[in-house]
Amino acid sequence: MNDSVRRIDPSTDPGSAAAMLGCTPSQIGPCVRCQGLTVRYGSNTQPICPACRTRDERPA
Ligand SMILES: [Zn+2]
Repeated sequence: MNDSVRRIDPSTDPGSAAAMLGCTPSQIGPCVRCQGLTVRYGSNTQPICPACRTRDERPA
């Protein structure tokens, strides 16, 4: 179980989101699915946020 992966609300400060995601604030952008914050720019982009990806990995 990995319930620690949570959606990062779009109102979250980019600096805080960057710290959670392990990237820089300039790389932060909205998830294409839930609009939560994820790594959208630069190298190693993740257009689907960690919370959505974790959900995908679980059985429906
Ligand atoms: Zn998402």
